[in-house]
Amino acid sequence: MSARGDPRRAIPGVDRLLAQPWCRLLVASRGRVWITDRVRAVLDDVRSGAVPVPDSVDEYEELVQMEVARAETLSLRSVINGTGVILHTNLGRAPLAPEARDAMSKAVGYGNVEFDLETGERGSRYTHCAGLVTELLGAEDALVVNNGAGAVAVALTAYAAGKGVAVSHGELVEIGGGFRIPEVVEAAGARLVTVGTTNRTRLDDYARAVAAGGVGAILKVHRSNFSMSGFTEEATLTELVRLGAETEVPVIHDLGSGLLVDSGRLGLPYEPTPAESVAAGVDLVAFSGDKLLGGPQAGILSGRADGVARARAHPLCRALRCDKVTLAGLEATLTLYRNPDRAIERVPVLRMITARVQDLERSAHKVAGVVAGLRAERGAEPLRLEVVRGQSLMGGGTFPDLRLPTAVLRVDAGAATEPWMAALRAHAPPIVARSRQGRILIDFRTLRGGGDFIVMAALSELDADVGGGE
Ligand SMILES: *Cc1c(COP(=O)(O)O)cnc(C)c1O
Repeated sequence: MSARGDPRRAIPGVDRLLAQPWCRLLVASRGRVWITDRVRAVLDDVRSGAVPVPDSVDEYEELVQMEVARAETLSLRSVINGTGVILHTNLGRAPLAPEARDAMSKAVGYGNVEFDLETGERGSRYTHCAGLVTELLGAEDALVVNNGAGAVAVALTAYAAGKGVAVSHGELVEIGGGFRIPEVVEAAGARLVTVGTTNRTRLDDYARAVAAGGVGAILKVHRSNFSMSGFTEEATLTELVRLGAETEVPVIHDLGSGLLVDSGRLGLPYEPTPAESVAAGVDLVAFSGDKLLGGPQAGILSGRADGVARARAHPLCRALRCDKVTLAGLEATLTLYRNPDRAIERVPVLRMITARVQDLERSAHKVAGVVAGLRAERGAEPLRLEVVRGQSLMGGGTFPDLRLPTAVLRVDAGAATEPWMAALRAHAPPIVARSRQGRILIDFRTLRGGGDFIVMAALSELDADVGGGE
């Protein structure tokens, strides 16, 4: 029987393919074991009918090359954020400033991470960034760990293990990703002492809890991801610091977002800053590096020298330390804040917050026009595109009530919405958008660094027949 009569008979064996010159080249560059696995995967696909049987051994080259490319695609990839959620936790929160990227790529080799270049002796990793944080916050000292949750855990463990932690009932919050204040207190080996009620907690409530004895710390938690209104009352940080000083109980402030410029300068409603916590006199304030600060994932503890020293000396701090690349990115980001105007210009998160809707609209109209033109030029089915006003969100568990007016490119996809969304995600680089009622929504506020051009290319090439179209 000829190969055409029963094509499966013509499927070559693994060894035959491995002996081909193109396959020998692949083996030389990637290793025999790995390439053998790739060849086997291709042959499995051919045998199972997932791909048509090639006519000749040479035609296997393309299949194997594609399989190699697929297997070499990294799991963690850069994507275009068309969702309009600025600090999108699922998309890695803050994109970094060019200065931070440069510093991080330089830090990947050897560096003076724990080496004192002046004395030639062993140095401390904790010195990096500490000076900048204390300078920017007006604090006595600072410490950088792996993330915000880690910073809170280190602070609580260092001060209150085996003791009580007084927290307002209204601040027993879940931050997201399973970070719940009662559980963090418990994990720190401390006992939760709830004070006040959900809507009202007065200084008196804390004072009574502290007077009862056994309280190792007063914890105040910023309600970063929800808001409370109506018949509410809470003790101020200044009152708590005064109580702490009178009773010798340290005050820890879990602030969350770490905004380092005045929110008014960004056109945002009031949001407390770490500098304000330090000025109020807290022992330690904890905040994230990758929320409103706009840097890499990190947790920063700052405040009084003895509080920071205590946290630094705790073994948990060593377990939660962050790496040299993060320290480099954080240092470069923090440096920008020496001049707040420069930070607003260079830190992408701040830049996206302050982007003007008119500019976003102009860019969306331009993309819509070019897409229509390019599709007409190549005779492709036109897309139903419209530039409309929408609302961007801050995300990352910050400013829960804020809606920033924005420009959205709306693609009327009807029944094809899901396949088109999938096609955008399959684009290189992937584009993540929102969809609602048969419409794909691409928010221009979060399309930074040339994302608008990538959206333009993807929509121009989108195959309108995918999923049936209209
Ligand atoms: C986000 C947040 C945290 C956790 O910070 P991560 O950097 O996400 O670990 C802790 N506390 C508050 C109030 C937060 O908003």
